[in-house]
Amino acid sequence: MESSVSRQRSPSELVIHTLYEITSHYDAGFESQVQELIQLGLDCFGLDIGIVSRIEDDEYEVVSAVAPKGVRLEKGDTFPLGDTYCSITLAADGPVGFECAGESTYAGPPAYGLFKLESYIGIPARVGARARGTLHFPRADARARKFDQVDVDCLRLMESWLSTESRRQELEDELREAHGRLEQLVRTDPLTELANRRGLEASLQRLTRRSAFDDRAVSCVLIDIDDFKDVNDTFGHAAGDRVIRAVADQVRSCLRPGDVAARVGGDEFVAVIDASPAEAEAIARRIAAAVDEMELEDEGRVVTVSVSIGVSEVAPETERVTELLEQAQSLLRDSKRAGKNTVTAA
Ligand code: GH3
Ligand code: MG
Repeated sequence: MESSVSRQRSPSELVIHTLYEITSHYDAGFESQVQELIQLGLDCFGLDIGIVSRIEDDEYEVVSAVAPKGVRLEKGDTFPLGDTYCSITLAADGPVGFECAGESTYAGPPAYGLFKLESYIGIPARVGARARGTLHFPRADARARKFDQVDVDCLRLMESWLSTESRRQELEDELREAHGRLEQLVRTDPLTELANRRGLEASLQRLTRRSAFDDRAVSCVLIDIDDFKDVNDTFGHAAGDRVIRAVADQVRSCLRPGDVAARVGGDEFVAVIDASPAEAEAIARRIAAAVDEMELEDEGRVVTVSVSIGVSEVAPETERVTELLEQAQSLLRDSKRAGKNTVTAA
């Protein structure tokens, strides 16, 4: 008696086996797996063009295709949906196959008229519950062998993997995006959208390592709003918040790309500048002047704002914000003692 191991595989068993091999090759990457999946369909149906399409509104776009040399068909090619048989597949909401379109109800325009494709088998490709495109195999010539149940089962099986995997890819992308947004959020001060302490620390290491490598100076500009308690007491907390945002905007506007600004306390800001303390002092004076010139009003009353600043040189490879601020804090105190609205540099 023939053992079950040595028995010949039926066509559907062969498809299941090959599909299993393709789909367990995660290392190959999704795009390469989809190409292999299409090739499996071509072998199974005895055809030579296979396509995964994405359909949005009335536009059909090739996402992945396998075609013989000489057939110009590339990822990203688009067609009006109505010019393709896929409009029929989507409307049928299930597998559609025909061997000789010319002799079928599909002979009409526009799809048949444009491409003169005689045979076709296709299925809506779902992502989640919704059809987002098609998996389909068209051919110019009529087909001698009729599509049978095994063909349809194979097509369903292939689409089922494609659907699950596309959803998984989509979720992975969403997760990566959400993670990126979260990372950004924990490093950002919500009131001013400048970096917060954590964000500053991350950028600080990048800046100081680079400057140590290039042997360039980095400076720290520490900015504190003068008599900010009085602003809150006189105009209220909401007006105080607007002042904080306005000062942040002035700090931002005086910096160059590559410099980093952060809000490190209630009314305290830091700019880490890719420049010598002398150049940083000039920038600090521009910040102080810009704040001084702001014309802020609250319910018709003028809000005067000024800042005091300390400018220090940053030691190479400084990693922590506390280390960064040490000298600048003492210089900032000097500015406050000197009567405020003042810049003191090392
Ligand atoms: P100095 O000139 O010495 O800096 O005096 P100051 O009044 O500015 O004193 P200080 O810097 O200590 O005051 C900071 C004040 O900022 C205290 C706190 O109530 C207020 N503050 C902290 N965070 C916020 C905030 O998010 N919004 C508002 N509106 N006020 C804040
Ligand atoms: Mg203050």
